[in-house]
Amino acid sequence: MRLAEIDGKALLRRHGIAVPRGVLLDAGDPAPAEAAQWPGHVLKAQVLEGGRGKRGLVRRLADLAGFAPARQRIADTLGDPTAPLLLEEAVEIAREIYLAVRIDGTRQGLELLVAAEGGEDVEATGALARIALGAAAGVTADALYPELAKLFAPSIAARLARYAARLPEIARREDLELLEINPLVLTADGRLVACDAKMIRDDSAAFRHDPEEFPLSRALTERALTPLERSARELGFQLVEIDGDVALVTAGAGLGMMMMDLLADHGLTAACFMDNLRGAPDETMAERLRIARAIAQRPKVRAIVFQTVLASRSLADRMDALLAWVAAEPLPKPLFVGIAAGHAAARKMSAEAAVAKLGGAGIAAFTDPVALVRAVAEAVGANTAS
Ligand code: GDP
Ligand code: MN
Repeated sequence: MRLAEIDGKALLRRHGIAVPRGVLLDAGDPAPAEAAQWPGHVLKAQVLEGGRGKRGLVRRLADLAGFAPARQRIADTLGDPTAPLLLEEAVEIAREIYLAVRIDGTRQGLELLVAAEGGEDVEATGALARIALGAAAGVTADALYPELAKLFAPSIAARLARYAARLPEIARREDLELLEINPLVLTADGRLVACDAKMIRDDSAAFRHDPEEFPLSRALTERALTPLERSARELGFQLVEIDGDVALVTAGAGLGMMMMDLLADHGLTAACFMDNLRGAPDETMAERLRIARAIAQRPKVRAIVFQTVLASRSLADRMDALLAWVAAEPLPKPLFVGIAAGHAAARKMSAEAAVAKLGGAGIAAFTDPVALVRAVAEAVGANTAS
């Protein structure tokens, strides 16, 4: 789950990391009296997408009289007068630094990302320095200092090393895939203040945390779901809709990613990504097909791809269910089926026999996923580079 900025900052604060004073305001709430004591003010839309600064969703106020017009501008930009806002004490910026801890999936360990010039243009202005951290043991400031001293003057590097050394432990305790602070502001008087927080908590670890925690982040996540994504979850699997041209039916994240990569290699993009849900029924093929039919109605979608990999559940039964689905109602776009099956799954019917059976019913079917994707690209006239 992606945390809203204000929730990410609450998480940092409880681990002793300095963040600006701030209050969450709902539509219509006035600026609280305490804000009059702050030296300056920033109004920030609480939305889960990044890049708010560039969209005018982070507004520095000249004074509190500017609060109402700034709120109006943000509401107009979002087209949503109900969007929650964070009114925050403005911090005087001497320097903006980018600092993040994330999981390096290849190494299966944490890594620290740093840029000496943080802020809104960090992606554009320069590469992030990557510092590998151990998988289990903590990291010390002494270990980080030499790396940071390549980017910062010694006095800042030393302070930053002590600061950064605290973050991996927070990421571990909070089960964060990403803990990003951008900008980490260095003030004129030498303090480090986290002025933004982007956190992603690993959903698989949700059971280790209070389910009632971070209600704003949960509400924003819920609001961002499309109607089909919501119905998929009710049917027992996870769906992410994408603006692509192939309705892709898979089970499990690994297979889904592989197929998305193959499609991309052939100039195609998936119109959806399907994954299993924790605690859901382990058989949701019929439900996935039902949602795929709905996605295939979109004008931009040009084909339906169903790729299955079976080891234990019967392939013959699957093929019966698939043929029943096809026969039930005309398909809005052509269907391509990929089949891999072994062991118990192929006892009654081999993958080759299934391909022949589907072929007999006029359905393009393949045992090789590359051949399948090639056929899709040919059929829809995609731009194949490879
Ligand atoms: P994002 O664009 O969604 O990442 O939103 P940020 O919270 O990072 O804000 C964007 C930019 O607004 C930052 O890079 C800062 O330059 C500026 N900003 C954010 N908070 C403050 C603040 O307290 N004081 C000042 N002066 N600028 C701020
Ligand atoms: Mn930011």
